[in-house]
Amino acid sequence: TAQRVPLIAGNWKMNLDHMQAISTVQKLAWTLDDAGHDFKKVEVAVLPPFTDIRSVQTIVHGDKLDLAYGAQDISTQDSGAFTGDVSGAFLARLGCSYVAVGHSERREHHGEDDDVVRAKVEAAYRHGITPILCLGENLEVRQSGDQVAHAVGQLRAATSSLQPAQVESLVVAYEPIWAIGTGEVATPDDAQEVAEALRGAVAESFSPELAGAVRVLYGGSVKSSNVASIMAKPDVDGALVGGASLDPKEFAAICRYQD
Ligand code: PEP
Repeated sequence: TAQRVPLIAGNWKMNLDHMQAISTVQKLAWTLDDAGHDFKKVEVAVLPPFTDIRSVQTIVHGDKLDLAYGAQDISTQDSGAFTGDVSGAFLARLGCSYVAVGHSERREHHGEDDDVVRAKVEAAYRHGITPILCLGENLEVRQSGDQVAHAVGQLRAATSSLQPAQVESLVVAYEPIWAIGTGEVATPDDAQEVAEALRGAVAESFSPELAGAVRVLYGGSVKSSNVASIMAKPDVDGALVGGASLDPKEFAAICRYQD
């Protein structure tokens, strides 16, 4: 992890309206400030629902917070007759640094396949937003022992059209579906196995230098009580946190995993 800055990102999913978002971000900022958090040492980001992003922007800019923020999804298209979709141009205009792409809930409930995910990764880069590319196996694949091939296949499919300069900033989140929102967390060794393989795949498809720059997060029932053991693994550079990111004190404690 030496040259990579760890990233702790909170995926709020469809929780917290824009008023709740304001108090959550303020409490998070106060708690981290009290702890003397150095955002250059451990980067922190929140991914609220679209309808909260303007409010989050106002708090972050108004209070000059170092907190990064982003969206949970992005349209493959930039503008036009795409009712209900949200353009990366709008997200960039609101100061979004990140966007989650290919979350398992999007893949499952909205039928997003590898081609859609790749198009969304491309859309993010078109607008200068860093994609947090989510991938990971379901229980069946895990039980058959094919988790590494599955994750590497999803990574290759989503990144095949990228330029090296784009890959350098890429964030990949390994999120085994059986561990998302279930309270069942992968072991640190499980996370390391896939994170190492994903980095190896970047080395093979692009270069060892780029593989050294890409950040690989783990996601799936991360809490303050289990984050440190996962972060101790050499190829795990951060966490994508769902449920536990809704409580600002708990999320701050996750960000402070080095304490
Ligand atoms: C997620 O949705 O990205 C996630 C990891 O959720 P949870 O932390 O609740 O398992």
